[in-house]
Amino acid sequence: MRLCAVGLVVLIFIAACAPMPIPTQTAPATTVVAPTLQRVRAVFAAPTDTPTGAATSTRAAVVTPTPQVVWRGDLHMHTVCSDGANTYDEMAQRAIDLHFDFIAITDHVGIAERDCHNESLIKCAAETRLVCFPGAELTARLHLLAIGIHQRIDPKLPLNAWVAEIHRQGGLAIAAHPYDPRWKYTEDELYHSGLDAMECARGKPADNQLQWQLSDRFNLPCVYNSDAHYQKDLGWRYNVCSVPIKSLADLKAALIARQCRMN
Ligand SMILES: [Zn+2]
Ligand SMILES: [Zn+2]
Repeated sequence: MRLCAVGLVVLIFIAACAPMPIPTQTAPATTVVAPTLQRVRAVFAAPTDTPTGAATSTRAAVVTPTPQVVWRGDLHMHTVCSDGANTYDEMAQRAIDLHFDFIAITDHVGIAERDCHNESLIKCAAETRLVCFPGAELTARLHLLAIGIHQRIDPKLPLNAWVAEIHRQGGLAIAAHPYDPRWKYTEDELYHSGLDAMECARGKPADNQLQWQLSDRFNLPCVYNSDAHYQKDLGWRYNVCSVPIKSLADLKAALIARQCRMN
């Protein structure tokens, strides 16, 4: 009983001497310390650490996401060696300026073919600044891109013989702007020719719709090209691939796996 009385007196004394609590002092003490700790933790936290919700938002503000690396390229362009206005060097330089990683030179074979065609293909094959696939646009009843070939192909051959010859040379056969009303072939002929891919999105919106539907029906990969006849026309339409395109084998695998899309 005597101890209780003493305790009571001590408590009353402490209460009387202690400063009056100011409610607003307690709250700032917490809010100042906690964010500081969280910020330090967020900056130095290992990537596998699981921060609290507050730390997550702080970390998102200080970590820059890694940009996705893509490979860009155009598989259809012309030079002065057929009906284009610029030389091989001018087209290649423009492609480099546009940060393309790969191109194909596809001068016409069958119309407007010029003497420098072979010279252009040799320059393309020897290119070191970007990947250049020597090619041609076989031009007769329809236009067919022969990508990665090394010998001229007779434009008078029928479609399935074109494709067979392109494959014999290790190349890729790609139908160019297949919905052009000038072309004389049936969808059946096209389907059974053994094509590797077809150009989509190369015409009016209604034609593009048909080309996408056709690629779906044929289960053929789409490619997206400019068909540039002038240096200035490069860059309006090209392929954006999510895997490196350093060889024809890379290109073929990327197309089959649908790893290239329209820019
Ligand atoms: Zn064409
Ligand atoms: Zn063309």
